[in-house]
Amino acid sequence: MSINIRTINTHKVIKEVKAKSILRKHKKADSWFVARYGMNLYRGCLHDCAYCDGRAEGYYVDGEFGKDIEVKINAPEIVAKELDPKRKRTPFKKGFVMIGGGVGDSYNALDRKYELSRKVLNIVSEHNFPVHILTKSTLVKRDIDILQTINQKSKSIISFSFSGVDDEVCKIFEPGVPSATERLETIAFLKKEGFSVGVFMMPVIPFITDLPEQMENSVRKFKEAGVDFIIFGGMTLKQWRQQSHFYKVLQENYPHLLHEYSIIYKGDKWGGASYQYYESLNKQFLHLANKYQIPIRIPASLYNRVIDINDVVAVILDQMDYILKQKGQKSPYGYGAYSVSQLKEPITEYRNKLTTLKGIGPVTEKIILEIMETGTSKYYEKLLLNN
Ligand code: SF4
Repeated sequence: MSINIRTINTHKVIKEVKAKSILRKHKKADSWFVARYGMNLYRGCLHDCAYCDGRAEGYYVDGEFGKDIEVKINAPEIVAKELDPKRKRTPFKKGFVMIGGGVGDSYNALDRKYELSRKVLNIVSEHNFPVHILTKSTLVKRDIDILQTINQKSKSIISFSFSGVDDEVCKIFEPGVPSATERLETIAFLKKEGFSVGVFMMPVIPFITDLPEQMENSVRKFKEAGVDFIIFGGMTLKQWRQQSHFYKVLQENYPHLLHEYSIIYKGDKWGGASYQYYESLNKQFLHLANKYQIPIRIPASLYNRVIDINDVVAVILDQMDYILKQKGQKSPYGYGAYSVSQLKEPITEYRNKLTTLKGIGPVTEKIILEIMETGTSKYYEKLLLNN
């Protein structure tokens, strides 16, 4: 990897690096993003969110998080090679390419100059892959022309993450990010342009954006903007770098809350808060999802005509498993989802012998047959809305 270092104003250090590989291939379509492939075009993130777990030591991001960033300047060239079907012995599976997530936002301010997202989207479009973008930036609007082309050929899903919708709170915890109001306006704009748009309402910030009236205000505004789904999650706070940075920001702005935090974050290895806290948060969110009738996972209608039937079945079963557990109920669907995801043959070949697959009993069999017939399941659709 060759490195070219530039120091720019406000103490930011930009390293231009040449990456050896960009595309990550998942063993199965993941049920959070419905993606088979993923990529990050930058390492580190100028958005500098106070709660970002990219700061945690486990991610090995060098330098000062939020100030030092690596730009993978050869990403378009590498992705073009990686997606070239002539270089593959086994053909690619049909699946969404996820851009964003992980330790970075591909639409951070540097992308105005480098345009890596735009260049990579052009390659993804040439190869007819559907795309899912996750960002906190309104810069994604710049690439609407390519995203429209992808949407017409296969599918573009554009998701935005929010910790809440109060602009003053966002300024404190998300100093490099366009305001929540600007993000909401971008969602409404993209919806009018015909895109499927989602929200990752995560992490909500304990005792600040997770208060009942704040949560309801957020969900109501997302609904008004027209979102297709909201995926929700609480905050983790891993010890050392992530926690100490977050507590510094908290101390400066909400010192009275430090004690409350010490009660729910007790040094769990993964940075998790207490079970009781997450449980009450989930209940609160599930109630709002039901009240505003918003799907709590990416609904099947957004991908069931786009990806392989095996992936459709596995994702739906996985999502059902997740929702039931989130509601504190037992689920018989997790193992079945895994079995289907590992099949080499189309699941349609198992139409008359589904229960020979591990983890699939008569209840799951009935749901799979319904998905094969209609692309979804009535029970699943009810779970999605917490009905
Ligand atoms: S936008 Fe995402 S990756 Fe970037 S700092 Fe914020 S939480 Fe971290």
